[in-house]
Amino acid sequence: PATGEPLLSVDKATRRFGGLVAVNEVSFDLRAGEILGLIGPNGAGKSTMFNLLTGAMPVSGGRITFAGRDVTRQPQRAIARAGVARTFQHVKLRPRMTLLDNVLLGAYTRTKSGFVTGALRLDREEERRARSEAMRQLERVGLGDRPYELAGNLPLGTQRVLEIARALAADPVLLVLDEPAAGLRSREKQALGELLHNLRKEGLTILIVEHDMEFVMNLVDRIVVMEFGSKLCEGEPAAIRADERVQEAYLGG
Ligand code: ADP
Ligand code: MG
Repeated sequence: PATGEPLLSVDKATRRFGGLVAVNEVSFDLRAGEILGLIGPNGAGKSTMFNLLTGAMPVSGGRITFAGRDVTRQPQRAIARAGVARTFQHVKLRPRMTLLDNVLLGAYTRTKSGFVTGALRLDREEERRARSEAMRQLERVGLGDRPYELAGNLPLGTQRVLEIARALAADPVLLVLDEPAAGLRSREKQALGELLHNLRKEGLTILIVEHDMEFVMNLVDRIVVMEFGSKLCEGEPAAIRADERVQEAYLGG
């Protein structure tokens, strides 16, 4: 879709765990080309919503539409192929592999061999293309100067950046990030914020699930606030910051 048009639509998404309603009829649109923040106190349902959006778990009710296609209850692999890439709250890099090989793992998502099936099933030409693509993604995030370093030797902030490069290797339209600022130093947060802004300028749409309110406020175009599984409100950062309900939710949570 064109910039500003809905790319992802969540319509009354609901997720139950037994008797607990972790996400309760939540609706919002993510517009093409924006950075949207999904925030809320602990237990609000953010991670569950993240899992619903990326297909990591199915909704109990409601509908999710991506790029005009109904992807409700589609498996994670299908949603990834449709152009949604994710990162993990806890870094899931291979510490004893090089930066380049870590990114290469992300690239396999979009090859004809399918989802992370490994290099053995790629032919030479595909392998060569995947490597040069992985290199391009490292350069895109500012890590092109050290492709053969081991991922485990990087500081946490740089590992997060590498994770983003790995997600980008699948050539996504939408990047969904789960608490990317968690545990980072303030300089690292700033660098991460700049990277995400640059990616947005390149046309990527970004959804960021984040507990760190200050980080989100300075980064995103719009915010959706969840509390107790429901959507509390949505709006631009300044309006959200001034909203008493949001302040109460955070103080109480
Ligand atoms: P947040 O990420 O905003 O902290 P979560 O989505 O992790 O919130 O959790 C929302 C609610 O759902 C919490 O009460 C949590 O205990 C519950 N919950 C999350 N995942 C599961 C699960 N797999 N099984 C049972 N309950 C869960
Ligand atoms: Mg969470």
